[in-house]
Amino acid sequence: MAEVKAVEKEVKIEEVLEPSLDKELRIKRKKVVDPGFDETIKRLTPEKIEKTINAVLNLRKTAARFLAPLETCIHCALCSDACQYYISHDKDPTYSPASKLRLTLWEMIRRKGKVSPEFIKQCARIAFTECNICHRCSMYCPFGLDITYQIGMVRRILFLLGVVPHNILDQDNSQSATLTQLWISQADWIDTIQWLEDETRLEYKNLRLPIEKEGAEVMWAPLGTEPKIATYHVVRTAIIMNVAGIDWTVPSRDGWDSVNMAMFIRDFETMQRVVLGLYENCLRLKVKRLVLTE
Ligand code: SF4
Ligand code: SF4
Repeated sequence: MAEVKAVEKEVKIEEVLEPSLDKELRIKRKKVVDPGFDETIKRLTPEKIEKTINAVLNLRKTAARFLAPLETCIHCALCSDACQYYISHDKDPTYSPASKLRLTLWEMIRRKGKVSPEFIKQCARIAFTECNICHRCSMYCPFGLDITYQIGMVRRILFLLGVVPHNILDQDNSQSATLTQLWISQADWIDTIQWLEDETRLEYKNLRLPIEKEGAEVMWAPLGTEPKIATYHVVRTAIIMNVAGIDWTVPSRDGWDSVNMAMFIRDFETMQRVVLGLYENCLRLKVKRLVLTE
């Protein structure tokens, strides 16, 4: 009971305005308390913020991708109707895709990285809780401006500053350490697969959940949640594969989880390792196809 109360306190919401921001940059929002935002910004200094922003923005290869939308956007708002956040907030213009950039990345560029920790916190709220980088707005823009890429790079800056929602960062740390989303060790993974094979064979005699079958047609890569909390998904996949007569396997080594939480916070280093883990298992087992859970 005490635990439930603690969670309720954590998600308590209140009206907020960031008092230290310039008036035109202030937006009225309900605030979700998240230690990933609230605690981490306490460690930020103006110097660290400026250095990090400029390190990302000044990359020669990407500079044009930052500047082109800033210089080309005519604020026509054609992208707004593509955005579910804009629609679901009574078409409040501060939720429009172009506004989200004006309130975050474009202001960072305008100020050459000289922004306050409070501004960074506001960027975190916008980039992580008011955009799910779905890419729809980029499809609607008549100039083809890649807004999603830009909001993704706001997330990259926030990740490098450590200002990331607590739960996503935990899953990213898990992927960095284990290549799985939910801290699943190699031993637990193998144990779960063998246990599920035994259980399912009570009903489906001779069913196999083959581990490390070299040369199989298909290697299956589930979501980390499936062996951890939704084992019935693994069982159903095994039944379908067996009934359909698919020659399939799962790897025994790390690099079987197809979730890539690192991608969502633009932790490019871990993101690449997750993909590489899958790829290396496919090569090692000499499979022809990789099948992922959607
Ligand atoms: S990418 Fe973000 S801003 Fe663009 S439509 Fe999707 S949620 Fe809205
Ligand atoms: S549709 Fe394109 S040009 Fe128009 S406001 Fe959106 S990003 Fe700017």
